[in-house]
Amino acid sequence: MLIVMRQDALEAEITGVIAAVGAMGLDAVPIAGAERTVIAVRGNDRPIDPSRLGSLPGVRELLPVTRGWRRSAREQHPAATVVHLPGGITVGGGAPLIIAGPCAVEDERQIIRAATAVRDAGAAALRGGSFKPRSSPYSFQGLGTEGLRLLARARAETGLPIVTEAVDVETLGAVAEVADVVQIGARNMQNYSLLRAAGRAGRPVLLKRHAGATIDELLLAAEYILTEGNPDVILCERGIRGFDGATRNLLDLGAIPLVHRLSHLPILADPSHGTGRRELIAPMSLAALAAGADGLLIEVHPEPEHALSDGAQSLDLGAFTSLMHELRAVGAALGRPLAEPAGVQA
Ligand code: PEP
Ligand code: MN
Repeated sequence: MLIVMRQDALEAEITGVIAAVGAMGLDAVPIAGAERTVIAVRGNDRPIDPSRLGSLPGVRELLPVTRGWRRSAREQHPAATVVHLPGGITVGGGAPLIIAGPCAVEDERQIIRAATAVRDAGAAALRGGSFKPRSSPYSFQGLGTEGLRLLARARAETGLPIVTEAVDVETLGAVAEVADVVQIGARNMQNYSLLRAAGRAGRPVLLKRHAGATIDELLLAAEYILTEGNPDVILCERGIRGFDGATRNLLDLGAIPLVHRLSHLPILADPSHGTGRRELIAPMSLAALAAGADGLLIEVHPEPEHALSDGAQSLDLGAFTSLMHELRAVGAALGRPLAEPAGVQA
């Protein structure tokens, strides 16, 4: 960390800061400039708590040099993390994969139809929420454990790995028993007890960016999972809150290459929640692929007009199949051919 002193800082204030740094067991190296003194702090093996130094007399600002997120930093781990799912499917560092399915599991017929169709179109995994974090308590909350049972049936029927959300610590165990990937939704991105528990749940974790979270905060949230010893974290850009209600969220495509520069963790894009509008899913999916996304999370429903949640941002089965053709073509043109699950012909 660099401690930047005020221009008018007194000599006593500079020595006071040096003493305070020393009292923390760290080295302080003052660098006297023409206008002000900057004090470099050395010897810390973790980020320094800024509240202890920032309020000392004569201090103008603190410039952290070490990021709070270390385990997720590409500097620490230059090679891309590759998360392995059942069936030889991988996320990160290679072919982009498509995860598709309804927002929520609604009944057996719906989830089996969706699962079969997305598998036949070339999706590598099935998504579907059983425990739904809804903005309104009056909205459909998901089928809970019954939905998990139906997801397990869909996996048995199609062979697709399952991505499903855990909304709290109480039900995380039940979710992790069925899920191949546990999703932590945007609303829970900073639920630190849930993040820690997910880090111990023995499954890869798909961590969605909160609509109001910075990239720094997303990586710090990932750090909670990584510090529990779970290296299998997949990030997801799903749109941040914009000023224009024309779209539900603003899909932050720039976050994808930026996260790749900062972190070795894979990052997916979710153009369904990222736009809220079905007609924008295809163009934003193609754009996210071009931006380097390691995969896409797309809501697909056999009858979007009757969906119990997020129908307006769900593709029907035909539209998803067409999009898969476009994604294959664009992926090939980009030199990033899609991951094809075994048995699917491009
Ligand atoms: C979802 O994936 O259906 C969901 C609720 O997503 P988010 O947490 O991004 O809103
Ligand atoms: Mn949804």
